[in-house]
Amino acid sequence: MEHSLNNSRDSELLARASKVVPNGMWGHMATRAIGPGYPQFFSKSDGCRVWDAEGNEYIDFMCAWGPNLLGYKNAEVDAAALAEIANGDINNGPTEKMVELAELFVDTIDYADWALFQKNGTDATTTCVTIARATTGKRKILVARGSYHGAVPWCSPSVVGVTTEDRAHVILFDYNDATSLDEAVAAAGDDLAAILLTAFRHDLNRDQEMPDPAFLRHARSICDKTGAALILDDVRAGFRLDVRGSWAKHRVKPDLGAYSKAIANGWPLAAVAGSRRMLDGASKIFTTGSFWYGSASMAASIKTIGILKETDALAHIEAMGARFRDGFASIAKGHGFVLHQTGPVQMPMLRFQDDPDLRIANAFCAAALRYGIYLHPKHNMFLCSAHQADDIDQALEAADKAMKDIAHLRGA
Ligand code: PMP
Repeated sequence: MEHSLNNSRDSELLARASKVVPNGMWGHMATRAIGPGYPQFFSKSDGCRVWDAEGNEYIDFMCAWGPNLLGYKNAEVDAAALAEIANGDINNGPTEKMVELAELFVDTIDYADWALFQKNGTDATTTCVTIARATTGKRKILVARGSYHGAVPWCSPSVVGVTTEDRAHVILFDYNDATSLDEAVAAAGDDLAAILLTAFRHDLNRDQEMPDPAFLRHARSICDKTGAALILDDVRAGFRLDVRGSWAKHRVKPDLGAYSKAIANGWPLAAVAGSRRMLDGASKIFTTGSFWYGSASMAASIKTIGILKETDALAHIEAMGARFRDGFASIAKGHGFVLHQTGPVQMPMLRFQDDPDLRIANAFCAAALRYGIYLHPKHNMFLCSAHQADDIDQALEAADKAMKDIAHLRGA
């Protein structure tokens, strides 16, 4: 499979969109955010593959930026959601599925005594912060520098349209750095409401870092001492690494957890899960949204979690991730590139050494697109259980050709 760079349907759609949508596209698919050569519009997806507007097929390693966990159009998940749609997805209130899903969260997630459901990851991170403040009566939220928690004023990576007051009670520290966390705690004084951490360090355009268990324990002990809430932002990693919660294996329990992306395999859903200590605060705040009672996404999530618990889907994703990582390591070596591959194999991050302006990464990913694989030059990627060994091997063959094409950039 080799595509021409010409994707006139994409250009046509972007030209039309530019007349009626600010910049023609918002967020991470805006032209200034995505690398050269990337299609911005898609026509369909299936399993681990996506098709652009022109009809070009790609083996996909972005998984819709996370939501695709069990394969696009997973038949079992979609059947569960469509059965709810046949009855009416949106009613005046939820169906029984809400209770069933909350029970499943409590049974499955190691720290959860309750759960509530929303639509987007930012709903969940913002609600966690609100619940922490409602519980503690304090205001300061400690946030790791460079971590992404959403695109609303208190946490957006952009300051355009954001006031200083919106961030007045946010204090920054460095992920995995206990001294820096201690300094932030001291700056919060007796007004500390929460420490907010992503599952691991997965910031844009830098090597990923697993959490240091000693650092997590330190954060936990600060919260135990001060009464502040430890919030796990599991929006990106949640259910892909461990269905019990991404810190279960580190034996550190947060007080609150934010979920979205993969929890309903692409059906729109977010969740806040919390411990008993947070229940009072969670019961007092007002939180809602027009579509938060929709039952189709809840049914999709129940089925997704069921599949994760009953099958070896997560072990399979990990095995495919290891195959991907090993393959990339040997391809890079073969072409004389030093490639940094960091973080969990299920969520790969590829960075070329000595590539500060991403010249090599952008050229490599653009070449990879031509050979039919969709990678990302500076954001972590995702594997799903629909990736089979053959797909990975086909992707590696394409990556090998792409790296050969850009070999002239080595040390240039
Ligand atoms: N937290 C993390 C760690 C995320 O990765 C994201 C989305 N990339 C969010 C929060 C915000 O989620 P959403 O875009 O669904 O609002």
